Amino acid sequence: MGLFGGRKTVYVDSDVLVVGGGFGGCGATYESRYWGRDLKVVCVEKANIERSGAVAQGLYAINCYMGMQWDENQPEDHVRYARNDLMGLVREDLGYDIARHVDSTVHKFEEWGLPIMKDPETGRYLREGKWQIMIHGESYKPIVAEAARKAATKVYNRIMVTHLLMDKTKPNRVAGAVGFNVRSGEFYVFRAKAVIVAAGGASHIFKPRSVGEGMGRTWYAPWSSASAYALPILVGAKMTQMENRIVLTRFKDGYGPVGAYFLHLKTHTENAYGKEYETTWYEHTKELVGDYIDRHPVPTCLRNHAFLEEVKAGRGPIRMVTKEAFQDPHKETVGWENFLGMTISQAVVWASQNIDPKHTNPELTTSEPYVMGSHATCSGAWASGPEDYAPDEYQWGYNRMMTVDGLFGAGDTIGGTAHKFSSGSFTEGRIAGKAAVNYVNDLGAEQPEVSEAEYEGLKTVVFQPMENYEVGRNEIVAGTVSPSYMLPIHGLQRLEKIMDEYVGGISAHYTTNEPMLTRGLELLQMLKEDLDHLGAEDLHQLQRAWELKHRAIASECVTQHTMFRTETRWPGYYYRADHPKLDDTDWHCFTLSQYDRETGSWEMEKAPVYHIVD
Ligand SMILES: Cc1cc2nc3c(=O)[nH]c(=O)nc-3n(C[C@H](O)[C@H](O)[C@H](O)COP(=O)(O)OP(=O)(O)OC[C@H]3O[C@@H](n4cnc5c(N)ncnc54)[C@H](O)[C@@H]3O)c2cc1C
Repeated sequence: MGLFGGRKTVYVDSDVLVVGGGFGGCGATYESRYWGRDLKVVCVEKANIERSGAVAQGLYAINCYMGMQWDENQPEDHVRYARNDLMGLVREDLGYDIARHVDSTVHKFEEWGLPIMKDPETGRYLREGKWQIMIHGESYKPIVAEAARKAATKVYNRIMVTHLLMDKTKPNRVAGAVGFNVRSGEFYVFRAKAVIVAAGGASHIFKPRSVGEGMGRTWYAPWSSASAYALPILVGAKMTQMENRIVLTRFKDGYGPVGAYFLHLKTHTENAYGKEYETTWYEHTKELVGDYIDRHPVPTCLRNHAFLEEVKAGRGPIRMVTKEAFQDPHKETVGWENFLGMTISQAVVWASQNIDPKHTNPELTTSEPYVMGSHATCSGAWASGPEDYAPDEYQWGYNRMMTVDGLFGAGDTIGGTAHKFSSGSFTEGRIAGKAAVNYVNDLGAEQPEVSEAEYEGLKTVVFQPMENYEVGRNEIVAGTVSPSYMLPIHGLQRLEKIMDEYVGGISAHYTTNEPMLTRGLELLQMLKEDLDHLGAEDLHQLQRAWELKHRAIASECVTQHTMFRTETRWPGYYYRADHPKLDDTDWHCFTLSQYDRETGSWEMEKAPVYHIVD
């Protein structure tokens, strides 16, 4: 028994276990209670659901609302939009399923107290764009969390889930999860009949633009640490489209959002010499991707592509032209409030750099890549679709169930369904919750059982970084570099450097090729070996250690997928320099991966894309 063998273990039994209490998790918890009145529904969250996840700080717009009550859009329209933006590749069954239910989710949010702005003339929700409605959203997360809190049998805050547990008798069936309390250090064993993973996306797997003192600043939430992918990957769930990382055009240094500026304030961009530049790159882009450049709206990645090419041609920086719009006092207020509701730091950056957008057109930049499944990108787990709509090949069980029995997902976790955003993630949580309850009810007497040997073994593994530190610390008198252990921050920087340089990050101009990916995989393998020697000085660092391990396995998955897809499908997100063009003949398909935890190897395959909506 090691130094930490004496730690207390807490056992929690549940019917439905929800991992992560963000938007997907709150939706899953809420809906599981609705359909499973007598079931034990437990939500476990590494922070506190009151202010956790990507929406912690609030939002200014709900980006996915059809407006079917006013005949503004139909679900099919949203499928066409997402398909277009993702260069043809989305799971149309899953996207349609969210779109047909998302309005009811937004109506619930309003009922629960979320102030949604109204158009004074029509009385309808005020539109920021075709899909976006504007909200006073500083308290968006607490409002939604309250619904989940009231629905859950219990919410366990401050517990980081590190591993899923599998059934003792059926190897491909989930049976629960383990984790530790990041404040008290107790080890938790959650035994569950169904598990819904809703643990958000992944930032900090590629080196961020903000380093040194600014390192905590990223566009995607810095605490989104890839658990949503690592947990399913490690139990053999198939993943899809993990190469489809996202790069965002945002205001420089603060990553402030640009949507309200383009859509509501009607601002536009120009190069350093005051010239429009997108048309300059039209023919060049058409050569790479064919008529995808003629689609409307122009896919997000292609708009990035024009930006990147213009900067490479030496005509940067690209600026947002705000000077005109900000002369209108209403627009000026909206421009500033847009940050105060969700990205206060952008306003602070401008103040600190003497930028008043009324007098100076602020610079834009492209972010480092992120991995997620709910924005203009669709990385995540391969999930079974709705029974009334999904083609046979996309159905092997309950809606939103992964390729592991009893394991469901929602939000950033689920792949193939871009543009769900906050409201769509909550909606997908509801869909997964309802399906998980059906699954639990259908189990009957055949209940999953966890193996004591498995969770006892994991207890040692989970706390090993603290033991490494405790023992190795004696070898040095001061400083952070030890011969026997590596601190999580050092491991994180090493991971980010590998991904940045070899897998298409900012310093490689988002470009990679087969030799680079091959070397990247070798270096990731070496990193993985060294991660067994992570040293954690306290529980906070232990959390950092496990976040890093989750990021590392997700990064490996991203690299495998990037290697497998031998084309450049999304220029502006990343480039395969050895296959610079989009190739619809061979690659109009999904990429799937499966990790074998016994051998550490990956199996890759293609899956067909079915176009259900015309
Ligand atoms: C900067 C930014 C701006 C955005 N702007 C908008 C917008 O304007 N409008 C809009 O509609 N949407 C917007 N979105 C999208 C929206 O925030 C996401 O679509 C949504 O939050 C995804 O839901 P989720 O449940 O997958 O992840 P999250 O809401 O991030 O929730 C994940 C949860 O899992 C927890 N967790 C993670 N790992 C673990 C673990 N190992 N154990 C336990 N708990 C864990 C996290 O703490 C978190 O609470 C924005 C997102 C970002 C990052």
